[in-house]
Amino acid sequence: MNISDVYKWLLNNQFCPLCDLPKEDGSPICSSCNSNLHRNAKQCRRCAIPLTTDASTCDSCKNQSPVFDQAFAPLLYRFPLPSLFHQIKQGKNPEQLNWMGELLADEFLSRWELDNRFTIMAIPMHPIDQVIRGFNQTEIFVKKLAQKSGLGISRALKKPIKTKHQAGLKRTERLKNLELPYQVCGTVPERVILIDDIHTTGATLNAASRALKLAGSKEIIALTLCRTPY
Ligand SMILES: [Zn+2]
Ligand SMILES: [Zn+2]
Repeated sequence: MNISDVYKWLLNNQFCPLCDLPKEDGSPICSSCNSNLHRNAKQCRRCAIPLTTDASTCDSCKNQSPVFDQAFAPLLYRFPLPSLFHQIKQGKNPEQLNWMGELLADEFLSRWELDNRFTIMAIPMHPIDQVIRGFNQTEIFVKKLAQKSGLGISRALKKPIKTKHQAGLKRTERLKNLELPYQVCGTVPERVILIDDIHTTGATLNAASRALKLAGSKEIIALTLCRTPY
């Protein structure tokens, strides 16, 4: 299934993509599934990790700040997201990305004041990985946010160097794996909303942010659908 097939499917589908029961018109998933998702209600302003205190940032960010300036993830990486992302990364069920992208855009725009000086960018895939999978899931999130916000998109960030898959690597191996895989082509926006699907160690977002800042970006918001709670 390619991206245009996904959009055709979406136009004709009025059932909840998670439970297959009829859903309310216009909503990406039914209200029951929506209320069962695990919300990241209180999160660190810098890295989006769930917080249990009233502080605005976590202890880890106080000791060593991420390269990006702020972060937001509306959901926690808990059921049903791990199994859905596992399928999507194998090229299956890409239509699930539609409701995820809608939810991400809706929650971001309702909880952040829209600043039209920002430009949206996706964490890119290596071109060969993208051909194998047939789509970059993060691009779908980028398009949804652009449609709903009116903000522009930049594709100046590239991933010319192939890295090992992060899943299955230990934390130190992940950080080493992502030392310099991202490069910039042309000029970069000064203010960037950098989108990825899952925020885990932050290694991917930091590596991409480092490339953007070296190329001249001044402010970066790392926006992901979900956050692992560690
Ligand atoms: Zn449902
Ligand atoms: Zn933090």
